[in-house]
Amino acid sequence: MTAAAAARQILTRLTEVMASRLHAQGKLDQVVEIIGECLSSEVCSIYLLREGMLELFATRGLNQSAVHVTRMAIGEGLTGLIADKVETLNLAEAKAHPDFLYRPETGEEKFHSFAGVPIVYRERAVGVLCVQHVDPRRYEDVEIEALQTTAMVLSELITNAELVDEEEARGLTADQTGPQTLSGLTLVKGLGSGFAVYHQPRVEITQVMAEDTEAERQRVYRAFARMREQIDGLAGQAEFGVGGEHEEVLETYKMFAYDEGWSRRINEAIDSGLTAEAAIERVQQHTRMRMREIDDPLLADRMHDLEDLANRLIRIVAGQIGTAASQGLRRDTVLIARNLGPAELLEYDRRRLKGVILEEGSLTAHVVIVARAMNVPVLGRARGEKGAGLRGVIREGDEVLLDATAGNAIIRPLPQVAEAFQTRFAKSREKQAAYASLRDVEPFTRCGTRIQVMMNAGLRDDMSALAMTGADGVGLFRTEFQFLVSATLPQRERQTRLYRDVLDAAGDKPVIFRTVDIGGDKSVPYLAAGSGEHDENPAMGWRALRLALEREGLMKAQARSLLEAAAGRSLYVMFPMVSEPWEFDEAKAVFDEQLAFLRAKKRLLPERIHFGAMLEVPALAEVLDLMLPKLGFLSIGTNDLTQFLFAADRANPKLAQRYDWLSVSIMRFLRRVMQTSLGSGVDIGVCGEMGGRRLEALALLGIGYRRLSITPAAVGPIKELIRKVDLSEITAAMNGWLSDPGCNLRHELSLWADARGIEYD
Ligand code: PEP
Ligand code: MG
Repeated sequence: MTAAAAARQILTRLTEVMASRLHAQGKLDQVVEIIGECLSSEVCSIYLLREGMLELFATRGLNQSAVHVTRMAIGEGLTGLIADKVETLNLAEAKAHPDFLYRPETGEEKFHSFAGVPIVYRERAVGVLCVQHVDPRRYEDVEIEALQTTAMVLSELITNAELVDEEEARGLTADQTGPQTLSGLTLVKGLGSGFAVYHQPRVEITQVMAEDTEAERQRVYRAFARMREQIDGLAGQAEFGVGGEHEEVLETYKMFAYDEGWSRRINEAIDSGLTAEAAIERVQQHTRMRMREIDDPLLADRMHDLEDLANRLIRIVAGQIGTAASQGLRRDTVLIARNLGPAELLEYDRRRLKGVILEEGSLTAHVVIVARAMNVPVLGRARGEKGAGLRGVIREGDEVLLDATAGNAIIRPLPQVAEAFQTRFAKSREKQAAYASLRDVEPFTRCGTRIQVMMNAGLRDDMSALAMTGADGVGLFRTEFQFLVSATLPQRERQTRLYRDVLDAAGDKPVIFRTVDIGGDKSVPYLAAGSGEHDENPAMGWRALRLALEREGLMKAQARSLLEAAAGRSLYVMFPMVSEPWEFDEAKAVFDEQLAFLRAKKRLLPERIHFGAMLEVPALAEVLDLMLPKLGFLSIGTNDLTQFLFAADRANPKLAQRYDWLSVSIMRFLRRVMQTSLGSGVDIGVCGEMGGRRLEALALLGIGYRRLSITPAAVGPIKELIRKVDLSEITAAMNGWLSDPGCNLRHELSLWADARGIEYD
């Protein structure tokens, strides 16, 4: 008999039992008989969770007097171990296992071999199904699979018959019930608390046994086709970021998605009578067991990828395609994801989103910039204790206290801990309120120089922060955000409406609109790189002005929208990723052409137009003499600039902590740009994330920068800093430090700040 046929036979008999009018205990008694018989096992037992203990509920082969008497704690004995680790054991000699525990009342001393599988409900073990045999032999794969299938059926029976209390089901393994601390990298500072929601939620499998095997086969076939399509299309998508580690992940995904062995095993499981969802899960359980036996950290990583993919496949089969965003957030939420793209994050309701925990992520990835703009704290590269992955530690709905500032999060906190957290949270809000009180205070340095503190924005909603923070204007309006949140290319009218609203909200304050910077980690499906080919290196690829100049219609529409929206007022336009002066000329020519058109139509024109460029490609710094005379202003995009100077992908989590913005090389570069520009009359500023961090801002002031455009939440803290700084002092100090290439600038600056009572954390 083939494996599938054997399993099918078991499943048919189980189906009959399940459909019978027996009460739950009667069904369990039948199940142990069937399994014992089919696997020719002297013993088959079912343990279920009751009052926190695993209790023997039914057995064939052990003493019947032990039923409802033998009880074991989670983690105790082999059965307890299976429940605790939610994993399968297959042992030729049970007594040789260090966790073996002898229970005299069961009369099990004569049995040698032992195999057990967890009965899983909502990712927790609610019981254990095990078999024992007199001969010392390992059970065959098909037998283990049959046990796993049976365990799935039992899980359905147990939950339907309410044999295990729901509350109990929630309270199982120590890793998943007690408090746990995650640690990671601070990506966006702040505190937040809420309930865990997975960006890619798991599907609850409600039907294990199939009614029509052929239909299930078709479902899984279609799901595979769809998943492969998705994987092939993922290359440019934000969920997977770009380059480096992400590419490896994607390659692994592809490998699994096209793996014949995987789909064959799923089909076999379907042949045995399971639904498509149950079949995928069953194969996954089996693979998990195999991988654990191998115990190789590299394989563990791959396992993580396969888990992701199996989850994706089940979601496709079950027709749950959308992310958690599409279901809406119902309460305060801390979002959990492997990685996210900016567009994906923007789909969440920002009133309910209190924090984000990512397994990957880096400081200047756009998703992080968006989160910063949304004022949502983000912890990146997060791991549980002993390096555990997030899926193993956090359950959907768990309470989470996120302290992204300190780089940690507490899952399922004890009440006292939650209370202390809330007290700290209240204090931090007080501090925020203190910053808010600086709203109307102008940022003059101690020596009396007025520094321009502007804010970065990208959405209509962001504009309320202008009044709240008292920023001097918007130094960078990322127009591509509108493109990222739209399913299709935003029409010209919609663009115009947005720009007009933004200008209305800004009143007299200037807004620097940056033309679309799409590409890199901000790809949009309707503007896929080139003719559908995949951009190997998107950050250095066909993005921003490069793309916009070739998609002339796009640039023209945006130019027209901006000119119309700014009719009768001042317009500031900034071009991103200018690498050569001619690119600036071409971009400006598009505006000039649209301007001429509007003029010919006798439309009201902007009162004044200021054109500027971003300096984020190092090459531009070498031709400033040619560039400056063309410009009204220049804004340094340190996020991109530093990634190019260090040749370190800003979205690559492996490089997230490798280089410091406060390096002599970066600072010397920025100082040289400032010195070259002095006397040109061109207004120079910085609009990268670094300007919003206190020590970095201090350094920038020390090398001559007087205009910073930063994330709104940083406006208060930076204003406070500015008011404590004497420019001649910091300038002299920076010059001294920068003359020594071996200098540890971060260290020196923090000592300097300490000595002056300047907070910098
Ligand atoms: C930058 O590169 O520093 C910048 C401000 O632009 P973005 O982060 O949107 O690429
Ligand atoms: Mg940039």
